[in-house]
Amino acid sequence: MPEGHTTHALAGRLNRAFAGSPVAVSSPQGRFDDGAALLDGLTLTEASAWGKHLFVEFEGERWLNVHLGLIGRFSVRRHHLGLQPDARPAGMPESQVPPRTQVLLGSQIPVEGQVRLRLLNDAWVGDLRGPTVCAVLTPDKVDQIRARLGPDPLRPDADPGLALHRISGSARPIGELLMDQGVLAGVGNVYRCEVLFRHRVDPFRPGREIRPVTWQAIWDDLVTLMPLGVAFGQILTMDDQVADAMQALAEVTDGSAAAHTEAGTGARLGDRFERRFYLYKRTGEPCRVCGARVRTRLVAGRNLFWCGRCQRRR
Ligand SMILES: [Zn+2]
Repeated sequence: MPEGHTTHALAGRLNRAFAGSPVAVSSPQGRFDDGAALLDGLTLTEASAWGKHLFVEFEGERWLNVHLGLIGRFSVRRHHLGLQPDARPAGMPESQVPPRTQVLLGSQIPVEGQVRLRLLNDAWVGDLRGPTVCAVLTPDKVDQIRARLGPDPLRPDADPGLALHRISGSARPIGELLMDQGVLAGVGNVYRCEVLFRHRVDPFRPGREIRPVTWQAIWDDLVTLMPLGVAFGQILTMDDQVADAMQALAEVTDGSAAAHTEAGTGARLGDRFERRFYLYKRTGEPCRVCGARVRTRLVAGRNLFWCGRCQRRR
């Protein structure tokens, strides 16, 4: 299930592949034909993320909005099709070949499954499958969506006070509030469970009983943890893995393990660390700290995992 780190990593991949170049946009599946036609051939300016929403700006103030939902995937990969020399006038560099020509040639790149949206330039292809949202928006509409979202710990401009304001005024349990994208954007079920455990917070405490100092500690922790998720393509919350990841990041000169991995080893993201958590999907197993049985209950539509003995704080 994609959480905010997935969307931010995706925005980075899209920028490295497409930003600054004209992009051929199509809908191999056909369900996004009209939207694709509005973007086809425009230069992609910049992709950015706010929580689980992806916003891709094209020239002419046209915005593509994507939400992956539970099962959506957006793969970005190099293609080695190249453009045949006779597909362009003599002397024209590949980057200036009209997008229409790219689409024709791009049709030679096999389409696997139901591809709602395909982005293509002379070196990269991006295929979007199974999103909850895929739409072309005006700048006003983009602003409206952003105004409804809570602060995102992965955005430098985020204001944690706004989230605290919404939490401290609510009778809903903190375990539910953390999943509300209007309170806090980007946190999904794994980060929710794990960050509450890291601070020993009782997930069933009403928001209005959560102390501001506790909220600030949770926020600061997310600001540390979530960039590791972006860099390594996997959610890391256990102290030993967090320490290793921070050490590894410090050794990467450009500060981005994702860029480093793609450019260098070609290793698949998300495989660097053993998949393990304090609580997530460990129902009935012993708590790694106190040995009590890990419990689970449906909260905000997803299985919340918690330790009833460790998590008493508010
Ligand atoms: Zn415990």
